[in-house]
Amino acid sequence: EAKGAGRNRYAEFRHEMHIAAHDRLALENDLRGAITRDELFLVYQPILDLDTGQVTAVEALLRWQHSTRGLVPPTEFIALAEESGLIVDIGAWVLSTACRQAAAWVANGTPTRMSVNVSARQLDDPSLLETVSRALRDTGLDGDHLILEITETALMRDPAAAADLLRRLRTHGVHVAIDDFGTGYSSLAYLQQLPVDSLKIDRTFIAASARSRESDPLIQTLVQLGRSLGLRTVAEGIEDEAQLAYLRELGCDAGQGYLFAPPLEVAALERVLADQAAVIA
Ligand code: C2E
Ligand code: MG
Ligand code: MG
Ligand code: MG
Repeated sequence: EAKGAGRNRYAEFRHEMHIAAHDRLALENDLRGAITRDELFLVYQPILDLDTGQVTAVEALLRWQHSTRGLVPPTEFIALAEESGLIVDIGAWVLSTACRQAAAWVANGTPTRMSVNVSARQLDDPSLLETVSRALRDTGLDGDHLILEITETALMRDPAAAADLLRRLRTHGVHVAIDDFGTGYSSLAYLQQLPVDSLKIDRTFIAASARSRESDPLIQTLVQLGRSLGLRTVAEGIEDEAQLAYLRELGCDAGQGYLFAPPLEVAALERVLADQAAVIA
């Protein structure tokens, strides 16, 4: 009896694995056509200077409106896009769409830097440099208005090759931020040599600061590390006033999070930019 039950559970398990694999394949197939079916779009989350409260940049975040599944979050399809290689085409679409949007804001008199996520697989693709320069050329956006966010983990796989690529990217005037900083294993010696402009401290550290005082020294260390390397520090996922106050006290330069604004669609983000322009004027 017990053996029979075990066999049943195993059969059930295999059945579930089969469904999971099948589901993955279906999702991958759908993703393949998502660009041409116009199902992908970008939302934009403001990044604020913590001293002045001014929006200094916005981060472009990818969304997929699936015809039957509804809104699929990036956590459910970015990894799939990377493994299948689809991220190269999708990433090119993200770059050109984000640059076109940023160029429109510059033309409207609400210039703001555009921060775009670039994945490990895109770094390995020999066409990345051309993709970036084409996005700038086609949209007329000045490279100074573009920030490329690359995760610490992606950069540290081969720091020398990454440094070389970043130097070439920067000849187009673009800025580079290390994303999800603190979650990877950076060699400090390599970190010092990477031609980057800012560190984005991962949201897990910011969230932890609200839960326990013990994790506070960790954030302090990350902010100080950024400063001693001469980099701007940006905190992700600021959700409450206590976190904001602590980050300001530490001298963290900039931040983004639900406390200020969630990722917004174009019209809503434009209202934020317009309100701010009115305050300055
Ligand atoms: P990320 O680049 O670290 O982006 C920050 C994530 O934190 C975003 O999640 C954002 O919505 C979320 N976030 C911001 N503030 C808060 C907050 O106060 N509380 C909480 N709980 N979350 C907050 P999102 O949009 O779901 O994106 C997840 C990840 O997917 C991104 O993490 C990035 O790694 C990846 N991703 C998104 N768009 C793209 C893209 O266009 N290309 C690539 N390669 N990856 C992307
Ligand atoms: Mg990012
Ligand atoms: Mg991040
Ligand atoms: Mg993160």
